[in-house]
Amino acid sequence: MLLVDAPPGGPRPPARTWCFWEEPGGGYDSVLTAGWDRLRVHGGDGRPVLARIAPLRYKMLRSPDFERLVAARLATAPWIRRVEASVTEVRDDAGGALVRGTTAAGGAAAWRTRWAFDSRPPSALPRARTTLLQHFRGWFVRAGTPVFDPAVADLMDFRTPQPPHGLSFGYVLPLDDRTALVEYTEFSPAVLDDAGYEAALRHYTRDVLGLPQLRILSTEQGVIPMTDGRFPRRAGASVFRIGAAGGATRPATGYTFAAVQRQAAGVAAALAAGRDPVPARLPGPRAGDGRRAAAGAGHRPGGRRRLLHPAVRPCPGRAAAALPGRP
Ligand SMILES: Cc1cc2nc3c(=O)[nH]c(=O)nc-3n(C[C@H](O)[C@H](O)[C@H](O)COP(=O)(O)OP(=O)(O)OC[C@H]3O[C@@H](n4cnc5c(N)ncnc54)[C@H](O)[C@@H]3O)c2cc1C
Repeated sequence: MLLVDAPPGGPRPPARTWCFWEEPGGGYDSVLTAGWDRLRVHGGDGRPVLARIAPLRYKMLRSPDFERLVAARLATAPWIRRVEASVTEVRDDAGGALVRGTTAAGGAAAWRTRWAFDSRPPSALPRARTTLLQHFRGWFVRAGTPVFDPAVADLMDFRTPQPPHGLSFGYVLPLDDRTALVEYTEFSPAVLDDAGYEAALRHYTRDVLGLPQLRILSTEQGVIPMTDGRFPRRAGASVFRIGAAGGATRPATGYTFAAVQRQAAGVAAALAAGRDPVPARLPGPRAGDGRRAAAGAGHRPGGRRRLLHPAVRPCPGRAAAALPGRP
């Protein structure tokens, strides 16, 4: 098995922070940065709703820790070879697939395989009725005094000023009583410029949260398309798209990480069983709900926050059932 990943720089994404829902005892628990059993949501009216989410936990995993763990596991599997190259083409070839790329040293490379699984971001989004962007910037911050409650994650805080189309919210994921990841997120048609994100985060941390002066340790940002279009998972007889490129993003929430893990496990199981390894689509009804919610967030300004606010309710059983992105 050959794993081709882009060399540092170029198409390789910068370090990211993934959060996802899972019961304790998951495969990445040993390298999590943090985890929470209690979540809080603030409505636009400022009313907080706090919920315990047992038996689940909301887990934070940083991509460098994930990559180190996976690299160590792969190093014990002699049938897996790793190569650094920028892939330029993946297509069907006689009896299998052909993958072409450029190595870090600039040389051309090509590999023939029985199956190819392509996780490169698609060059275009699928045709859709609704496409919103979930775009966000976050700061890892450090305060001089204890200001955060590390037992509670503020998941969606709608006390942010709302954009004319779509919605916005802040969130606070504390690592200890002085350190947290604080983010400003919009679901809207277009990204903000640099000054827009900075102003939104300053307003959220200072005016909404009332935090004292903060030291910004690092910044991360991203754009996740939220669309009711369908991503084709099969690109040829032997070529499949996987991950976000294969439709693993939940349309209403942007959560992708847990679905990617499940999709990859399904592919591995199919290969082991000698079946065609077609990556699974997101479970039907939830994906459908998500597509309707994405459409609602885009088109129904009055109801948009209600679409997300019920995600966490005081009743734990219902909260667990309604959590966005739950595996
Ligand atoms: C900043 C940020 C934060 C996010 N947070 C969350 C979160 O909290 N929870 C969540 O569920 N989702 C989150 N997401 C969504 C995120 O897209 C997915 O969680 C996840 O990274 C998607 O996995 P993937 O494998 O499909 O794509 P990626 O993680 O983007 O992986 C693609 C891989 O393909 C490689 N690659 C790309 N192009 C080439 C090329 N030409 N040649 C060779 N290799 C190539 C890259 O190096 C990379 O290894 C976040 C996204 C961003 C950007």
